[in-house]
Amino acid sequence: MNTNDFTDLKLFITGPTYIRPEVRNAGSLPEFGHRDSEAVKRFGPIFENLAALAGLPEDSDYQVAIINGSGTCAMETTVRSLAGPDDIILSVSVGAFGDLFHKLAVTNGKNTETLHYEPGQAMDLASLERALDEVSPSLVLLTHNETSTGVANDVAAAVALVHAHGALAAVDGVSIFGGAPIDLPQMQPDIYATATQKSLGLPAGFGIAFVSPRAVAKAETVPHKGWITDLSAHLGRAAKKQTLTTPNTTLANQLAIQLDYILNEEGMENRFRRHIEMRDRVAEFIESLDGFELFAPEGYRSPTVTCVQVPQPLKAADLKNIKETMRARGYLFDPGYGKLNTAMEDSGRQPVFRIGHMGDTTMLMLEEFLAQLGPVLKEARG
Ligand SMILES: *Cc1c(COP(=O)(O)O)cnc(C)c1O
Repeated sequence: MNTNDFTDLKLFITGPTYIRPEVRNAGSLPEFGHRDSEAVKRFGPIFENLAALAGLPEDSDYQVAIINGSGTCAMETTVRSLAGPDDIILSVSVGAFGDLFHKLAVTNGKNTETLHYEPGQAMDLASLERALDEVSPSLVLLTHNETSTGVANDVAAAVALVHAHGALAAVDGVSIFGGAPIDLPQMQPDIYATATQKSLGLPAGFGIAFVSPRAVAKAETVPHKGWITDLSAHLGRAAKKQTLTTPNTTLANQLAIQLDYILNEEGMENRFRRHIEMRDRVAEFIESLDGFELFAPEGYRSPTVTCVQVPQPLKAADLKNIKETMRARGYLFDPGYGKLNTAMEDSGRQPVFRIGHMGDTTMLMLEEFLAQLGPVLKEARG
């Protein structure tokens, strides 16, 4: 087959993200048997390094599971394993991915109530507390980094409130893990779910879950968790440095190499600082453009994705044209989360676009991208 027309675009979408040549090359390391000692050579360090990246000390009582599929599989495992027939779930949504967590609970037949915020807002603790009082949930679903709007929530405070109400807290950290300090000992979530293809700078293929002792105990009491969504089964295999079903061994090789690079070459602190610098650079760029506005409120702006509301006369359709203009220049531009822009335009509001600045994207790559995008945006605006 002729692969010459597979264009090597620089991805500035919000996942999957740019993959470094070293990680691409790691994809050609030897395949292995997933129940063989070769598996432990990869997954042993993978489990240890994931825990370190989550800020967990060596003697932590959190357990880590690697779940085949993607982030959504880790989230579905969460709702199936941590809520039984007598439990009520409260899903807290500030956007499309909060809505996804809600949908997973509902489509799995769980008793679910929702607390919903306007797109672009962060959750606030006063309304969360009122909802906790009203609903008395046993499990609360939270989003750390709402990828559709660029809002990063204060999840540590929310988790504390959830615990004060006697419920378990599940956090979707899919687009931020690997791009910001997570500090699980301080945040104390009962489950923190993430994935490989966003701030970790890898292809998609694994969900990752960090699980507290309380969640481990709860999962053991929940019936009918399914099989590939059974957290207890996943953790049983993880205890042997394995996955429940056959993993993508190509991705396992890449994950092993990438985590070693993050922890021992780039360094976590440097990686997290680079993300903040990229966020601030994008904010400065947007503020220099007349009429364009940052969608997330100050103090809640994501270190990994920036969402921008465009001025009139620009429409969502214009953002799609900009995507094609940028493609011709070698970039994949993100013209906003589709459903969000439809809802925005239906209610007379201006649409948004997003810039992903996560994973292994460097400041130099970002500068080159912004240098191309600036004139394109100005020209489109007229
Ligand atoms: C991408 C994303 C998901 C979905 O993850 P998949 O790996 O595509 O299943 C869930 N939540 C957030 C916040 C995301 O950014």
